[in-house]
Amino acid sequence: MIPLVNLKRQYASIRADVDKAVSAVLERQHFIKGPEVAAFEKAWCAALGAAHGYGCANGTAALALALEALGIGPGDEVIVPAHTFIASAEAICHVGATPVFADIRASDYTLDANALPLTSRTRAIVPVHIYGTACDMAAISMVAERHGLVVVEDAAQAHLGRFDGQALGTLGDAGSFSFYPGKNLGAYGDAGFVLARDAAVAERIARLIDHGRRSKYLHDIVGYNQRMDELQAAVLRIKLARLEEWTSMRQQGARRYDERLKAAGFKVLEADPRAEPVYHLYVVELANRDETMQRLKTEGIESGVHYPVPLHRQPAFTEFGLRDGALPVTERVAGCVLSLPLCGSITLDEVDQVCDAFLEVARPC
Ligand SMILES: *Cc1c(COP(=O)(O)O)cnc(C)c1O
Repeated sequence: MIPLVNLKRQYASIRADVDKAVSAVLERQHFIKGPEVAAFEKAWCAALGAAHGYGCANGTAALALALEALGIGPGDEVIVPAHTFIASAEAICHVGATPVFADIRASDYTLDANALPLTSRTRAIVPVHIYGTACDMAAISMVAERHGLVVVEDAAQAHLGRFDGQALGTLGDAGSFSFYPGKNLGAYGDAGFVLARDAAVAERIARLIDHGRRSKYLHDIVGYNQRMDELQAAVLRIKLARLEEWTSMRQQGARRYDERLKAAGFKVLEADPRAEPVYHLYVVELANRDETMQRLKTEGIESGVHYPVPLHRQPAFTEFGLRDGALPVTERVAGCVLSLPLCGSITLDEVDQVCDAFLEVARPC
């Protein structure tokens, strides 16, 4: 059996440390706003070279908190790619703004900076570093600067990914991360993180996360309860120590997939030359997806589709939706991408097993 993500194997490799860290939190009986969250915030900011950042409840909240702190709200249009997880656009709706769906590049599946649907109401861009590979942040930043827009990076799939040597999440006005269990850095429950370039924006984010508090009984603004908790932070601190090693294993696995699948004529992710992808998912295009998934399943190999229904065609977004055919690259890609097993604890032998099974049945587009 080869799962898409082998979390059980990962846990087995860190069990002693995790159990000890979790026990320490239980002994301390300090679950909210304690030393673990503070230490993790410091460590994650240091890992990214970020000036300001805060733990929060999940990646969706992280994105909404960043948008709200940057003043995005009702009447504002926010450009977001249609080829992403629904949360990228949900967060825009949560602050009362309007998501405007954009197409992607065929090479790396990220937001196409040459096809941004700008209007007089556009106020922000949410580039999504999908699959762990960087958007063209140089081109996106240039458009943002020219039109006076804010940029909030959705780096939920891109922990330790880089663009031009700089950590993803630190290139925009703000950046958001998810530590959902299956992400490259995953908690044992929900958790997320928000970065901001500007100290005042960061301060506002910190207040919004914790009921708009200035002090225990004084609240400056109406905020939320979107805090990260101590148990999650304790787990994340243990895992962060291994993240570089796990990322390198993902990159090695992806290289092996690339070699074997490209040689057989398949289109795989072609990262921007300035990007250092961290492969949250390994994606390949093929002509007979259903048949291939079925066959892999009978051989005990899990696969997935990220994402089969583009956001501009989702029932939840009917109000903001676009007609069929409006985003041609997104729609074509949604119909032909398949995600193969990849995680920090996969072996190259397993990658070869997946390739053998895949190449027996899959046909290139
Ligand atoms: C996982 C994910 C999110 C949401 O994160 P949660 O922690 O599940 O709320 C947002 N955007 C993208 C691209 C994601 O993959």
